[in-house]
Amino acid sequence: MKYSTIIIGSGPAGYTAALYTGRAGMKPLMIDGGIGRGQELLGAGGQLMITTEVENYPGFVHGIQGPELMQIMREQALRFDVEVVEDIANQVDMSQRPFKVWVGDASYESDTLIIATGASAKWIGLPEEKPAHEGGLGGKGVSACATCDGFFFRGREVAVVGGGDTAMEEAVYLTNHASKVTVIHRRDTLRASKIMQKRAMDNQKIHFVWDSVVERIHDPAEGCVTALTLRNLKSGATSVLPVQGLFVAIGHKPNTDLFRGQLDLDETGYIVTHHDVRTSVCGVFACGDVQDSEYRQAISAAGSGCMAAIQAERFLEAEKAGDTSVHGSW
Ligand SMILES: Cc1cc2nc3c(=O)[nH]c(=O)nc-3n(C[C@H](O)[C@H](O)[C@H](O)COP(=O)(O)OP(=O)(O)OC[C@H]3O[C@@H](n4cnc5c(N)ncnc54)[C@H](O)[C@@H]3O)c2cc1C
Repeated sequence: MKYSTIIIGSGPAGYTAALYTGRAGMKPLMIDGGIGRGQELLGAGGQLMITTEVENYPGFVHGIQGPELMQIMREQALRFDVEVVEDIANQVDMSQRPFKVWVGDASYESDTLIIATGASAKWIGLPEEKPAHEGGLGGKGVSACATCDGFFFRGREVAVVGGGDTAMEEAVYLTNHASKVTVIHRRDTLRASKIMQKRAMDNQKIHFVWDSVVERIHDPAEGCVTALTLRNLKSGATSVLPVQGLFVAIGHKPNTDLFRGQLDLDETGYIVTHHDVRTSVCGVFACGDVQDSEYRQAISAAGSGCMAAIQAERFLEAEKAGDTSVHGSW
């Protein structure tokens, strides 16, 4: 089956692209990411599924819970003749048009592609972060999502690694459950916005360990987190911090492995775009966090999803009218 466009991903960028292409009568196919597969693949709805209060998405005077916002976006988009495959795309061929996208053994063809695969949390790189079935403590006290796992740490002491907005947000959220939250940061100042810094620093339950990294997570042999070995990067001294949970909040990796070698990525793996949402391959557009390492907000992701949809529609209209300059100007 051939589609005018296939949208890969269903965060704010993907749903907005679906809404616009659907309303434009393009009958898009959206591959939505399916059921979340834990730490690295968040599944349908994307990153806001692991968020509580969203206060900065226009239109919601008193804010809205992340999963509720994504459910509304989905329902709104699916009103307009959008076909959905509830799974992940595992292979893409952009070498010629029509483009081909595989979901397992099934393949789909399209005249344009809209990539909206977002980003995933980064890990420190310690062996103990791996999932329990691989001998680590992932899911057994090590997490990258306070909203998902904070509940399990009621009355306990936990640590958060990171110094950005996400780390502060996670730390503040965790104080709803944990008795003490220690933020471990490799520098002596935070990267987080002033308002988030203030919120964390004003919170009596949050403590800071500066210039330090986590060197070891104890204790895989016990099957749970009991303590962290920290190393001070200035003095080289090590210390042990007793905690029952570790939340890693050190940033995100764009979900672009699927496209590597087929379109231009920057040195950190983000899709390079020009004219806002055009990728290096004619007919392929990218929107949201997968091409935006700077703003990484729901509203900017949704805005670029709108741009990708409009550009895809105009591109196809121009081709239909025999206007080949659309290829030359790419
Ligand atoms: C803890 C936290 C709190 C946040 N709070 C806010 C906030 O208050 N306000 C705000 O504006 N922003 C907030 N953000 C940022 C916001 O969530 C992101 O900027 C936004 O979700 C990006 O949207 P996106 O559509 O680009 O990508 P994502 O939301 O990352 O969605 C990507 C989608 O692509 C899918 N996908 C990935 N690979 C594949 C594949 N191979 N096949 C099919 N599907 C695939 C995923 O499953 C997912 O559905 C927060 C983020 C986090 C992590």
